[in-house]
Order: sequence, then C-alpha cells, then structure tokens
Amino acid sequence: MRAFNFSAGPAALPVEVLEQAASEMLDWHGSGMSVMEMSHRGREFTSIIETAIADLRELLGVPANYKILFLQGGGIGENAIVPMNLLGRGGKANFVVTGSWSDKSQNEAKRYGDVHIAASTKGSYTRVPAFNGWQVSDDAAYLHLCSNETIDGIEFNDFPDLGALPIVADASSHILSRPLDVSRFGVVFGGAQKNIGMAGVTIVIVREDLLDQAMAICPSAFLWKMVAANDSMFNTPPTYAIYIAGLVFKWLKAQGGLSAIEQRNIAKSTLLYDTIDSSSFYVNKVEHTARSRMNVPFFLADETLNDAFLAGAKARQLLQLKGHKSVGGMRASLYNAVQIDAVQALVDYMKEFERSRA
Ligand SMILES: *Cc1c(COP(=O)(O)O)cnc(C)c1O
Repeated sequence: MRAFNFSAGPAALPVEVLEQAASEMLDWHGSGMSVMEMSHRGREFTSIIETAIADLRELLGVPANYKILFLQGGGIGENAIVPMNLLGRGGKANFVVTGSWSDKSQNEAKRYGDVHIAASTKGSYTRVPAFNGWQVSDDAAYLHLCSNETIDGIEFNDFPDLGALPIVADASSHILSRPLDVSRFGVVFGGAQKNIGMAGVTIVIVREDLLDQAMAICPSAFLWKMVAANDSMFNTPPTYAIYIAGLVFKWLKAQGGLSAIEQRNIAKSTLLYDTIDSSSFYVNKVEHTARSRMNVPFFLADETLNDAFLAGAKARQLLQLKGHKSVGGMRASLYNAVQIDAVQALVDYMKEFERSRA
C-alpha cells in the first residue's frame, strides 16, 4: 500500500509515472535495454532528452532565447556554479535573504566574488520584504533570490522589475507548481527531487546572452556555455533522472498543464492552512501573502506533543512530517504528486489529534 508522503525531498512522485517506469524497466520501447543501460548518444536516449526538453519548454512557456540545461550538482551545486558562470566580468552578486536556502546561497557565493545583501529578513523568516525597500547594488552582475524557501515555507508570488539586472531564481521546490514568466529572469534553476522527478539532475534555464560572462576557473562540466553547446552532453548526463523527469512532464501535460496544477495546489494548501489557522493548537507564523503552497511548516503550540503527533501520523500512513532540524516542528510538503486526499487525511488526523488532547 502507498503511504501519504509529505517529504520535502526527495519527494512523492505520481504513481502513474512510477508504474510506467516499472513497466519499461527491462525493455524500453522494444530497445531490449533499460534506459539506464543505453548510450546517452544513441538514438533512443536522444529521443528521450529531446522530448523532455520540448515538453518542459511547452509547459513553462520558456522563450526561444533561453537554453534548458540538464546538469548535476543539485541546488547546492548551483550556489557555486551560478557565481562562477556570472561573475567573470567582475561586479557583485546581490542577494535577497528570505530563508535558510537563500542564506546558504549567499554564503557560498562569497567564495567566488563580492556579495551584497540587498534585503534580508534573517532572524525572523516570515515574509518577503517589500520590493521598494530593496537596496540593490548597481555595480552587480545579477540578483539571486530563492522563489520558494523550502525550510521556512515562504514563497514569492511576484517579482520586481530590476531593469537590466538579471534575476537568478532558485526555484528548486516550486518549479512547475504554477505558471512562471521565465522572461522576467536571467536564470531559473532547480534540483529535480522536489517537484520534477528523482535526485541527480538539476535543471538550469538560462538566457542566452548570459552565457558569455563566466569566470576562468569554472569547471567545464559546469560551464553553462559548454553544456549548452553540447546539448547537455558535455559529460554523461544523469540519463535515468532525465527520463523520469520526462515522464513527469508528460504527466503534467495530461493533468492540464501548470494552470490546472496550480488550482489543485491552491486547494491543497488552503485546506491545510485553514486547518492550522482555525485552531490555536497549531501555529504557522508566515505572513499570509508569503505562505508557500508547496511547503507548509507548522508547530504544535505544546511542543512536548511533537513525538506523539508524529507517532500517530505514522500509524495512519502519514509519513515524513517532521520539520527540518534547523527549525523543528512539523512540515508538510504538498508537491504536485501529493493528491488532495492526502491533505484531507492529514487535516482529519490533525483535528482528531487536537480533540484527543483537549
Ligand atoms: C533542496 C533545495 C536545495 C538543495 O538541493 P540539493 O539537491 O540538495 O543540492 C537548494 N535550494 C532549495 C530551494 C531547495 O529546496
């Protein structure tokens, strides 16, 4: 039996995708091989990666002047790969710190160049600071933000217009959960294991004019220009992870695309936030306009009940609800593959647990 899986990542995948991958495991489309056994340069895998890129381009509406790259190294790898690709002509990197991930990113970028903090809510990650208060350095190559803070549960619903200054968005934990206007960014990146597929592949969407400003020290395998010129095959790409991502893209198209999945994600997250807000037993302190639809951290007002809450959840097959170790409490991640019935089962349990402790 499949559990209700609220993992923050690696996270739940659509059951249809897992079933298809299982049925194709030994023999992909009559090739006599598993996808993980075939040459990345062969006809079969070439069709897999080309279809995946075309489907992603269609789903997100990626403009023609953007490259879609498949890399390795995850979101954390990009924390170094982004500055190495963008700071080669000097200039600072602006950062907006709204949670644990953007803070980690600015810390890593310091190893490669000058970092300027344009805005920060460090100390109390509960909101997106108003755009008109950002102190953006003009002498900068780009501005980095994390469009969905996975640990703190903070999501950008809008983005400022910074003129010629490119915005780099770490969208690891909400990419494909809603439509995103890629043309407002210089770079959008994300690891796959949250909302796209399995761990091992990182998607980088980069505007072509930004491919020419890398630092000389950037490893060739992470040099976007080199990766782009080789159609993500400068080195052996994570073939199976790309295949799974491709199946998820097809699944998303069959669900009606990103506007349809966004409506479901709104319904799921509203159900959970309403349950939290309707009781003083559960707490979420994020400002309502900045609350993430994908990652919902919450606390029990009486934290001595945490272990009992988790044990009761586990007994009902509600899994991976423990909050990140840096913040404690609980966290329910509601990625695309998490169905509304899972959220309903969670809120039913939350109400029942509260009654049992009254
Ligand atoms: C998970 C996550 C990362 C890190 O991804 P890795 O694959 O572990 O490197 C980076 N940024 C955000 C927003 C994330 O959610």
